[in-house]
Amino acid sequence: MNIILFGPPGAGKGTQAKMIQSELKHPQLSTGDMFRNNIKNATPLGLKVKSILDSGQLVGDDVVVELVEDALGKPEYANGYVLDGFPRTVAQAEALDHILAARSQKVDAFITLEVADDILIGRLLSRGEGRADDTEDKIRIRLDVYKNETAPVMNYYKNKGAYFAVDGVGTIDDIFGRLKAIIEA
Ligand code: ADP
Repeated sequence: MNIILFGPPGAGKGTQAKMIQSELKHPQLSTGDMFRNNIKNATPLGLKVKSILDSGQLVGDDVVVELVEDALGKPEYANGYVLDGFPRTVAQAEALDHILAARSQKVDAFITLEVADDILIGRLLSRGEGRADDTEDKIRIRLDVYKNETAPVMNYYKNKGAYFAVDGVGTIDDIFGRLKAIIEA
């Protein structure tokens, strides 16, 4: 089963993707984590994207799509995966469709976590992971980028079906329960 976990920064995509991986044994792939690992290890890709992540803007579609395409070819993802942080533009969603079609696969569930802006900002400011993009000014930029470039991805999947909107407010376990019900249905 191929699942997209979607939502604004701070919605809890990463937390829930990791829960799905550990509880349901469904491997997750986070583009944000992949970029941060590359930055930490000072790889050529990391050096290329560091200033972009620090600024709160999006990495270019070509770079992200190539990274995801390579990753999805790995054997660990052969039986499905949860995508966290991808696709983040309509162009990325279209590219994903091409990648999946070439493998006779599809998106089985697109799940968006809904959380109000004031709660998002509070969560991001208090999460204390020391991320350079978790400052108030960078958070505002990321929310703007989300509204302008990423939110249109919702319409893309609404028109295709297999679209689910989930209340992203509550305890981590509550929200996991809501996701699990959709995934197991
Ligand atoms: P959050 O959802 O909290 O903003 P992520 O870890 O998903 O955090 O992403 C952090 C940053 O990584 C983004 O602000 C962006 O710079 C970059 N990034 C991650 N995924 C993508 C993507 N699919 N397209 C473009 N940039 C991305």
